Amino acid sequence: MNKHNFSAGPSILPQQVIEEASNDVKEWGSVGGLSLIEVSHRCKEFVEVVNESTQLIKELLDVPEHYEVLFLQGGASTQFCMVPYNFLKEGEKALYLDTGVWSTKAIKESNIFGDTEIIASSKDKNYNYIPKFNIDVDKHFHNVSYLHITTNNTIYGTQLYEDLDIDIPLIADMSSDIFSRKIDVSKYDLIYAGAQKNIGPAGVTIVIVNKYKLGRVSREIPTMLNYHTHIDKKSMFNTPPVFSIYCCLLTLRWLKENGGVDAIQKNNEYKSNLLYNEIDRNELFEGTTEKDCRSKMNVTFLLKDDKLEESFLKLCDDKGIVGIKGHRSVGGFRSSIYNAMSVESIEHLIKVMRDFEISHPII
Ligand SMILES: *Cc1c(COP(=O)(O)O)cnc(C)c1O
Repeated sequence: MNKHNFSAGPSILPQQVIEEASNDVKEWGSVGGLSLIEVSHRCKEFVEVVNESTQLIKELLDVPEHYEVLFLQGGASTQFCMVPYNFLKEGEKALYLDTGVWSTKAIKESNIFGDTEIIASSKDKNYNYIPKFNIDVDKHFHNVSYLHITTNNTIYGTQLYEDLDIDIPLIADMSSDIFSRKIDVSKYDLIYAGAQKNIGPAGVTIVIVNKYKLGRVSREIPTMLNYHTHIDKKSMFNTPPVFSIYCCLLTLRWLKENGGVDAIQKNNEYKSNLLYNEIDRNELFEGTTEKDCRSKMNVTFLLKDDKLEESFLKLCDDKGIVGIKGHRSVGGFRSSIYNAMSVESIEHLIKVMRDFEISHPII
C-alpha cells in the first residue's frame, strides 16, 4: 500500500496479511478450487483455522489451561452487555473505572443488570488521564462480582501499562491494545477485544475467559449471549465470521514470526517514543494527555494554534498520511500506531511535522 494509514479502526494490518487473504479469497490453497469465503465453516480446513488461531492466542499471551478462547460477533459493544449478563451476580455489585466513551457505554449496560459503582473517573478533564483509585478490598471482597477496566482508551490516547495488582476479579476491554504488550492473563476473569484495531478486519471479537468463573449468576441468559454456549460449541454454535477469523490467524502467524508479544512491545515503545518526542520538541504541537499515561497505540496531539489545523491536515493528505484527524470529542489529531504500523511511516509523519514547523515559523 502506498499510503500511511493512521486510522483508529478499522486500521492498518500487516501487508502480508492483506496479500495472503486476498489470494485466499480468490482460491483458498488449503482446499483448492474454492474461495475461502464460500466453504463451509464446518469443513475440517476451517475447523483447523479456529484451532490454530486458538493455539496461537494461547501461546502468544501465555494463556493458562483453564481459560477458553472464543471468537464472537457483535463487536466489543456486545461484550458491554454480555459481561454483566454472565458475571454480575444477583445481590453483588460491579465496579467500573470510567476512562472514556467506551467505559461509559459498558457502565450503561451494567446498570441494566445490577448495582454498578464507578470507582473513579477522569471525565472532569475530558478523560485526558487515568484516574487513581483505592478499593477497600476487605470491604468489597464478598460483594463485588468484578472490576471492569478499559486498558487503552482509543479516543483519548490514554493507557494503563500494567496489569492491576488487586484482589478483585478483573474484566478488561483490551480492544485497542491486545497483543501490543505482555499481560498476565491469570489476573483477569475475562478479556475481550474487537479485532479491528490490532488483529484483523471488523466482524470478530476475541474473548479469553476463565471458565471456572462462569455460572455464578442465576438469571436466565439468552443462548447467544451466554458464554457457555460458545465454549461448548467451540465458537461454532452458529456461523462464525470466517473471513475475519482467517485474517486474525494470518496476523497471529505474522506476530509469532516477528518475535511475538515481547518483540512487538519493544517495537511499540520505540515507535511511540519517536512520535511523542517530536510532539514535545516541536513548538507548534502539544500532547493532549498527561505524560504518565500516554497511549502507545493512539497518540493524540494538538496544534497550539488551532487555526493551522486545516493546513496541517492538507499537508498530511498531500503526503499520503490518512486517518490522522482526531476524534470529534478531543479534536486535533490522533495517530493510531498499532502493531502493524512501521517505523518508516512514523518517521514519515515526523518529517511532515518538521516540514510544517519550518513553513510556519513562530514569530
Ligand atoms: C473500538 C472500541 C470499542 C468498540 O468496538 P466495536 O467492535 O465497534 O463494538 C470498544 N472498546 C474500545 C476500547 C474500542 O477501542
